[in-house]
Amino acid sequence: ITLSTSNDLNQRIRVCVRKRPLNKKETSNQETDIAPLVGNRTIKLHVPKTRIDLSRETETHTFTFDDTFDGSSSSAQIYARTAQPLVEYVFKGGKATCFAHGQTGSGKTYTMLDPVHGLYVLAAQDIFRLLSSEHYAHLSASVGFYEIYQGQLFDLLNQKSKLTAREDGNGNVVIAGLREYPINNVEDLMSVFEYGNQGRTTGKTGANNKSSRSHAVLQILLKSEAAPAKVHGKMEGAEINKSLLALKECIRALDQNKIHTPFRGSKLTQVLKDSFTGDSRTCMIATISPNNSNSEHTLNTLRYADRVK
Ligand code: ADP
Repeated sequence: ITLSTSNDLNQRIRVCVRKRPLNKKETSNQETDIAPLVGNRTIKLHVPKTRIDLSRETETHTFTFDDTFDGSSSSAQIYARTAQPLVEYVFKGGKATCFAHGQTGSGKTYTMLDPVHGLYVLAAQDIFRLLSSEHYAHLSASVGFYEIYQGQLFDLLNQKSKLTAREDGNGNVVIAGLREYPINNVEDLMSVFEYGNQGRTTGKTGANNKSSRSHAVLQILLKSEAAPAKVHGKMEGAEINKSLLALKECIRALDQNKIHTPFRGSKLTQVLKDSFTGDSRTCMIATISPNNSNSEHTLNTLRYADRVK
């Protein structure tokens, strides 16, 4: 098996945008798509100048990212340019994180966690395909799933018991007490995920609850059976529900090679720290809604993503 990630997908941090299609309600309200893609990497956003007439006067913002996707891209195509290079990187022994960030209703859950289209399923298919090859016979996979809520960590696979994050001597982040389940196939991963997801604080009861500030992190570890204590590679996927000022500050500090990076600014950046440092790769997918009435949120998301890249 060859790992064939092309160079343009091998950046330390990739930032992509995914625009969901207009939904029925938006279409029946005569809303339009105000965020046309130009080529594969550029997106324009026509922000209405007044709330009274959303279509007449607009101000146009233009952004360029590593990739931009809309309804014409299949999940498999998006996977190939976001999470897949990370899976390959993890098999080479690295650490990687893929996360989605955007307004509620913009497609984070669909992108990351949908049982058919979600990147985690597509990643799992690849992971188990690779693990079944002789070349990786010495590796096995396990999964952990936790939630960050109000600055605390809860184990979604162990009755929401409280967890703490600490660093080992090598600067690796360890979530002490996190329950890890061995998984042997995609179905194992999906049933563990479904079990844990039932405990999410972000419930399905009503719009308010949905915007509760909770992040979920699904972590897949590859361990070497030759040396059981040794972690070979680590892959994390997160669905992030909040404006990540702290994360932005960390990424900015890393880019400027600042010695002190403010990872302690939030629990999320603290636990994802080793995904942003050293031997690691990160892909951020900014998810946006296409319609007029969400234009301010969309502009915020695109500006935020622009700072990360
Ligand atoms: P979020 O997790 O950001 O709050 P969701 O993933 O729940 O948003 O998406 C909101 C709605 O839009 C859902 O009904 C979802 O199925 C739909 N949706 C999101 N992204 C897409 C997409 N790319 N294609 C089709 N439907 C989508």
